Amino acid sequence: MLSTVVSRRKFLKATAAASSTILAGLSLSSLSIQPAAALPPPKPKLVMGQKIPSVCPYCAVGCTVIGTVVDGRVVDISPDLEAPHTEGTLCSKGQASILLLPQFNPYRLRTPLMRTNPKKGENEDPMWRPITWEEAFEIIIKKYEEIYREWEAKKSWLDAKGNYLIPGGRNLDDPDKQYQLHPRALPIARISTDYLSNEEAYLGRKLAMLMGTNNCDIEARRCHSTTVAGLADVYGFGAMTNSSIDLQNAKITLNIGSNHAEQHPEAFKFTMKSIEKGAKLLVFDPRFGRTASKAHMFAWFRPGTEAAIILGIINYAIKNGLYDREFLKTRTDAPLHFETKEFLEDWETNPNSIFSKYKEHVSRFTPEEVERITGVPAYKFLQMAAEFTDPKNRPGQIVWCIGATQHTCGTQIIRAIGQLQLILGNVGQPGGGANVLRGISNVQGSNDMNHLMHIWLGYRRVPGALGERERLPGGAEADIRRYQKYKNLLKQGKSAAEIAKELGIAWVGDLRHYASWREAEMHWGIFIGTYPEDDPDNGVVISDVPVEPGLTTIEYFREMEAGRIKFIILQGMNPVVSVGNASQVIRGLSNPNVFVVVMDLFLSETAHFADIVLPAASKYETSGSVTNTGHTIQWRHRLQDNSKVVDPFDPQRRRFTEIKSDLWFIDQLFKRLRKRGLIVLPSERFAKDRGIPISELRKLSNGKNIDELWDYRPPDKRVGPSIDDLTTEPEPFEVSKEIDKTVRIYRGIVGPNGENRMAERNKSFMDEYTQKFQIYKFWGWAWPDNQRNLYDPKEPVDKRGLGVLGRTFFKPDGRATFFSSFYARRGRGFPGYYEPAESPDKELVKQYPPLVGDHPYFKELGIEPPKGYHPGNKFEAGMVIGTVEEGFDVILTSFRLTEHQHTGILTRTIPWLAEMMPELFVEISPSHAARLGVKTGDKVKIVSKRNLNDPVIAKVLVTNRVRPLVINGKLRDVAAIAWAYGFAGPHRQLNAISNKLFPDAMDEETGMPETKVALVRIEKV
Ligand code: SF4
Repeated sequence: MLSTVVSRRKFLKATAAASSTILAGLSLSSLSIQPAAALPPPKPKLVMGQKIPSVCPYCAVGCTVIGTVVDGRVVDISPDLEAPHTEGTLCSKGQASILLLPQFNPYRLRTPLMRTNPKKGENEDPMWRPITWEEAFEIIIKKYEEIYREWEAKKSWLDAKGNYLIPGGRNLDDPDKQYQLHPRALPIARISTDYLSNEEAYLGRKLAMLMGTNNCDIEARRCHSTTVAGLADVYGFGAMTNSSIDLQNAKITLNIGSNHAEQHPEAFKFTMKSIEKGAKLLVFDPRFGRTASKAHMFAWFRPGTEAAIILGIINYAIKNGLYDREFLKTRTDAPLHFETKEFLEDWETNPNSIFSKYKEHVSRFTPEEVERITGVPAYKFLQMAAEFTDPKNRPGQIVWCIGATQHTCGTQIIRAIGQLQLILGNVGQPGGGANVLRGISNVQGSNDMNHLMHIWLGYRRVPGALGERERLPGGAEADIRRYQKYKNLLKQGKSAAEIAKELGIAWVGDLRHYASWREAEMHWGIFIGTYPEDDPDNGVVISDVPVEPGLTTIEYFREMEAGRIKFIILQGMNPVVSVGNASQVIRGLSNPNVFVVVMDLFLSETAHFADIVLPAASKYETSGSVTNTGHTIQWRHRLQDNSKVVDPFDPQRRRFTEIKSDLWFIDQLFKRLRKRGLIVLPSERFAKDRGIPISELRKLSNGKNIDELWDYRPPDKRVGPSIDDLTTEPEPFEVSKEIDKTVRIYRGIVGPNGENRMAERNKSFMDEYTQKFQIYKFWGWAWPDNQRNLYDPKEPVDKRGLGVLGRTFFKPDGRATFFSSFYARRGRGFPGYYEPAESPDKELVKQYPPLVGDHPYFKELGIEPPKGYHPGNKFEAGMVIGTVEEGFDVILTSFRLTEHQHTGILTRTIPWLAEMMPELFVEISPSHAARLGVKTGDKVKIVSKRNLNDPVIAKVLVTNRVRPLVINGKLRDVAAIAWAYGFAGPHRQLNAISNKLFPDAMDEETGMPETKVALVRIEKV
């Protein structure tokens, strides 16, 4: 941190204003005073300030900022001139971010609040009463205790065979009810925002598991879960392959499903640099946005049909021999036999090769078929396909965002994108790659910490959530018995290869799950295994972490409405505005039998339904690590300690002592629940029931239990047991040290001498290669192994890492995959095209059925639902779908604005931003406007089948940015609506939650709601 001198301009201004007030009414001449102009100018009073680096709290470009702090109070936030991925600029949100601080923002929550009106609803006044944190904890814990004791009375941890296991949440016992909570699961859930630091997300996930639930989700569910699932299926890791700096090295960029210039302006700077060097930019978008305005070629298309475009380009490349033979041969499964997986020398022509099968699979996506599905004219499609696949334009990259992910077939779209880059040999090198841009500052990191329902510890499955390769009958019980055998074999000194063979695990890499469970046993003080340990086949199975996956965000609100989830903690997320079928979310939150705790910076739309609201610190008021969209982890230093800052808006001039960090809340909640007997592990119950010393089950942690190991106090403040200490704040870096030990992909974030590598700010290069491609390996730390361009074997190895991950595809034979045995079970061994849930065309539905279990057309057309749709995509589960025949004849998509961050609650509360984009608007084409009889500025009423009696009201912007498209021979109107508005905060607007219009039908694999395509009816108000 640096020291600097700053002028106290505001102080001087105030002094001048005060002097002029005193002198008003008196003539200078009467006082024989010389005019001020004749006096020497006042000498400015200067004070010493401290410059502290931090990271912009908004999007995942992760721009570094420098905070200037005077007397413990932030007085300025400026762009960091040093940061290689920022280069001294910030977008409008970053520039205005100082106004998030409570001394500048009267709308920040300052104290816990309790609802006094028991009635919940959009139009009910919660009648908040300020309370203390002690009161808040007492109310929360009392309510939790009621629910817990009721659950406990049923002895829910014992399964029918006498094993000590708590189901994580999902009802796997009944395939037809998989979307429902398991009868033995705790009826609780927690959701967090992706703004949480890695340390907060890690500890939040740990807390949920110790509480006994896998109903643990994060905002990433609805923004990039399909990216993670899709890319992991093809490459091994679910991360952006390159970095935002590397966007400048591309010779061509294909942008689909992202208005990059608007949403990630500081990253777009690097795309513009590539253009300055002669690169091309191609954009497919349902709406002509700012990115399109810089494109060399642009095409409008129907939202939700991205897979048809990508598969069409793949077909074009294969048909015209434009694929990268060498790359396909050496780095993918294309040359392997479709069944035996043997290498075939004649793979290009052999009908049994994966390549030949794939070629046949994509052959149906001719330019004409792409036009029929997407609305992109065949000639335009051909021009763009030819440009992107032209060998002279390599390496090329594909950039996408939530336009491509939020679909019922989102995972299939992303698989196709990953595979197009394989076809062209564009992966594993600078300037290439599959470059997904994340929207929230720590989407990547909170995913990596797996604040999710089926994985933990850096993409390790929870017991029983078995993947395709390790599948074994018997679910969680069998999984844990096998894990006990793994531990026993390790004890015998067997090698990993020997253990895998003995356990019947085909790929030794699949032992990574068990290796991580063991690390959790050591560092958390838990037990997973059998008792006795030397009888894994017959012993009692015990798991201190919940087994089987939990439910996902959409399902929570359905379960809340049904009264099956009774308690929910939401840290930061605003699902009332961000989740599809928002009316259903509201119904869930409004159930009087559900206790809702919300921790946030502002009284958001979601907080409106809470029983208790807690004031959270912004990310400038805490420290911790944050992983940007390019998987580089930076350390965010705390700029301001709120307990030292006086509230200028409070007449009593109190300090902001009630605003607390999310980490502090998680730490407090664990300690308080544990001390109240509301966190009891299955192993503890087992030991008590059988009269066995608990140390018998704590051998891996040297006898230490969770109370002793949950100690994140600074080392010099560790006085007495941590569990009894409610006054010392947790130190985030102490959590990082545990992450370094338990989350293997993050290994290396802490150096051997305890140094914080995430805080490194060194711009030197390792060698010519890193200099040529601007790979700053000493700026922060990237996972895995500090590899900046994933799968690039030429990138220099950073010897400070393990040196084994990130250079090859993380697959059994190191080959990226076209064929997926996992999706083959659902008939999708290769990614296909599927209509959106709300399709405007019956014929297309028949040909490409949407991935839902029920559809109004299915019965009429006499077709069976496709295999493997998400179990919650059924009418019985709560899904609602409309059709053109019912009058929903406009295809609607949504878009974001630079000035607003997602739901808008972090920007509508900032006047500089709110004034620039003050209210909801919908863009419609001139021809559509003429038919509706509206002009720009008029208001329209918009309904889908989900909000018939609760229309969204928006101002119209008549523009050529959107246009009607010919889909399967019929002209269809397309409109686009912003989604950053709602009824909370200073710029509140009624009837402005756009996501009331969009469906909650979900992606088959991840539960991502389809919030990018809806069929709606638009009428003049
Ligand atoms: S581009 Fe993203 S990280 Fe950078 S200043 Fe803007 S919002 Fe912040």
